[in-house]
This record gives sequence, C-alpha cells and structure tokens, in this order.
Amino acid sequence: MCANWCNLERDIHELELAGIDGLHFDIMDGHFVPNLTMGFDVVDSLRQITKLPFDVHLMVEKPERYIDRFAQIGVQFISVHFESTPHVHRAIRRIKDAGVSAIVALNPATPPCAIDYLLDDVDGVLVMTVNPGFSGQAAIPAAIKKIADVRERIERYGSSAFIQVDGNVSFELAPTMIRYGACILVGGSSSIFVKGLSLSESVKRLRDVIVGVIEESKGRDVRDSDVAFA
Ligand code: ZN
Repeated sequence: MCANWCNLERDIHELELAGIDGLHFDIMDGHFVPNLTMGFDVVDSLRQITKLPFDVHLMVEKPERYIDRFAQIGVQFISVHFESTPHVHRAIRRIKDAGVSAIVALNPATPPCAIDYLLDDVDGVLVMTVNPGFSGQAAIPAAIKKIADVRERIERYGSSAFIQVDGNVSFELAPTMIRYGACILVGGSSSIFVKGLSLSESVKRLRDVIVGVIEESKGRDVRDSDVAFA
C-alpha cells in the first residue's frame, strides 16, 4: 500500500536487491475498512516479476470468498481478520486446505483471547497496532502491549505460531515490538517507505535495528543466567 503505485515493478526490484524477506499486500474492500486498494490482477501481475514470498492481508468482509483465487495466484501467506467473518475458523481451514500459511489478524480493540481456539490451526497471529485502512497512523500503545499478551498465550498453549506486527513499524518502535515477541515486521511509511531515504537505505536501517535488538537480547540472556546462578 505504501509503495509508489506508478513504479511498483521498480520498487519491488529495489526491495529485492536490498534483501527484503517478503512483500505484504493490503487488500481493502471499502466495507471492512473505509478504503480501497488492489485486487487479484495487480497481485497476479506482480507475482510474475519476483519470487519473493507474498503475504496477502485481507481487510475485507467475508474473506473466505477470496482465498482460493489468491492461493491460485501463488501467494505464501494469507491473513484474515478475526472480526471479518462469523466463521473465522472455517476461513482459516480454507487457507490451510489451499496449501497456504494461515494468519489470523486482530484489530487493536480485539482481545488476545480471540486466538485461543484458533491456535491449533493458524501458522501466525497478526497484531494490528493501528486501526486497519490507512497508512501513516500512530501506533496505539495498548495494541503494542498486546504483542506480549499474545506471545504469553502462544507459549501457554504450546503453539509454534509466529507473531507478525502491522502498523507504525518505525525505527523507534520496532525494538519494543521485537522484545514483546514480534517475528515478522510489516514495514510501511514509518520505516521502509520514508521520505528522504532510498528503499535500500531504509531496509538496511531497519535490519540494523533488528540485529541490534537480537544482539542485545543475547547479552541480556547471559546476564540473566548469571543472576539466576547468584
Ligand atoms: Zn497489512
């Protein structure tokens, strides 16, 4: 959603060269969220120009109507919102049956317990730290804290689901998101697509931030175990 719509192919190749891990597509229907973005044809066209993993974030009502078609296009991840259908478990199963990794997305006000009866079936949980629909919004502090609550539940239930975070993933907030348990960061207008930085500079800067947090956590683990021994 945040890429240059007049130059999607150019942006994707630049991101690929910069070492991005995958591409995240925000699909909006003007009903579940008050905005419209792209549909099947755009994603299908872009599928032809890169082998990067495609992650389709369905911000649409009744997402089960669109799952099979995106699976046929050859996407690797599909996320559906817990709030977007009365039968979210069925939608998750449909994604899995199509051979695609399934992610359940939670709006900022949706409690973390929403995942309890889905953890056996999902590959990941997407924590929205802004209300879905528009780029450039400030993160909601309670939604950032929810990353830790989701991680606690995933561990409690013995699940291997990963946590993905979408919304105001900035250079400043990314460390907190990672410390709380985020494994996949969706970079938008506050990290990857930043005015004044090239895409390759932005990717490098975000990657440096991530590596810094990982290195720091290794150091903390050592100190923690020292304390435990004392
Ligand atoms: Zn998204």
